Amino acid sequence: MPSSSLSLATDAADLASATTEKTNLLGMTPQALIDFFQTLGEKSFRATQVLKWMHHYGVDDFSQMTDLSKGLRQRLSEVAEIRAPKVVYHHYSEDGTRKWVLEVDAGSYVETVLIPAESHRRTLCVSSQVGCSLDCSFCSTGKQGFQRNLSAAEIIGQVWVAQRSFGPRKDTSNRPVTNVVMMGMGEPLLNYEPVLDAMRLMLDDKGYGLSKRRVTLSTSGVVPMIERLGDDIDVSLAISLHAATDELRNELVPINKKYNIDALITACQGYLKKCGDKRVITIEYTLIDGVNDSVTDAKVLAQRLQSLPCKINLIPFNPFPNTQYRKPSRNRVMAFQQALYDLGYTATIRSTRGDDIDAACGQLVGQVQDKTRRSAKYQQVIATSAP
Ligand code: SAH
Ligand code: SF4
Repeated sequence: MPSSSLSLATDAADLASATTEKTNLLGMTPQALIDFFQTLGEKSFRATQVLKWMHHYGVDDFSQMTDLSKGLRQRLSEVAEIRAPKVVYHHYSEDGTRKWVLEVDAGSYVETVLIPAESHRRTLCVSSQVGCSLDCSFCSTGKQGFQRNLSAAEIIGQVWVAQRSFGPRKDTSNRPVTNVVMMGMGEPLLNYEPVLDAMRLMLDDKGYGLSKRRVTLSTSGVVPMIERLGDDIDVSLAISLHAATDELRNELVPINKKYNIDALITACQGYLKKCGDKRVITIEYTLIDGVNDSVTDAKVLAQRLQSLPCKINLIPFNPFPNTQYRKPSRNRVMAFQQALYDLGYTATIRSTRGDDIDAACGQLVGQVQDKTRRSAKYQQVIATSAP
């Protein structure tokens, strides 16, 4: 019958495309990789071997995995691949900051920045989405709108790219990336499962082996997902607060209309209860000139946070084209910080390292130009770097 032969043809086509598409192993959690090897009739320790090759040594070629039999290496190269997003632009700055632009689809880019700090710390700022749907008024990623979620491979691939940029790794005791913050483009809690899988790989000893205090998820306040996060994984939590009253926060961070400051603080308290140790929440507060940066604002903030164990990270607003907001003067920033100190809070001002390449963690998103300009710029970069 015509209808069934049509469906047979479709099934055959599906099967053909399913069999030709290789499985990308890069974003697989240890358990998913064990399951994968089981489908190949292989023992689960193969997953450990391949995880270490990928994440400890940055290898993406099965033929280099010398502790696998030649037959298995061949089989893997037929059915699987290790594929990170394509680096279309990179810049390594004098102060040690490194920045990458990664192409995830034709014309869609995300950015990743590695920022060095004192005592051998290097923090990688990782993106979770292309664009963002939440439209915070001071954020240029929000102004781009939402394009799509990144896969776990595209998220962990950013760590992979950064680590590999330090060359072949023989000694796993030295870590090129010591800390990860999910503070690049996108709202990580609106891309929950892939972000969770990627963070599991960051924490796992067979992955990047980072401690839970060195992996931080930053959210603008997707309250139900904060509750779920506490059940699923133990990482550090940063909250993009930016205002101490609902009236102002509704304007700056529109998701506040759905989940207000009270609900957010309650969710954070719940999260801390689930953490086994003495942990605090990091409160991110972008200082915008004349909007939320007065000493009175600092006092209201201190009052508002009384019931939450936290430290405060002040981020001077990072201007971008067509924004009405301004960066406050150094004096205003210092006065805000002092007011918080006086009320007993730990408040740090985010460093501006990497300014020479338009990159500073957390400000990364603020540096994002409008999409069309960026596409044009990177296409130009690709065109000029082509052989
Ligand atoms: N969506 C998540 C994580 C990405 S944004 C979140 O909102 O938390 C990372 C941090 O950069 C957030 O604290 C965000 O508020 C801040 N940020 C965004 N745009 C900024 C800008 N123009 N200047 C300074 N900080 C900015
Ligand atoms: Fe999205 Fe975070 Fe930017 Fe808000 S600040 S628009 S949540 S990326």
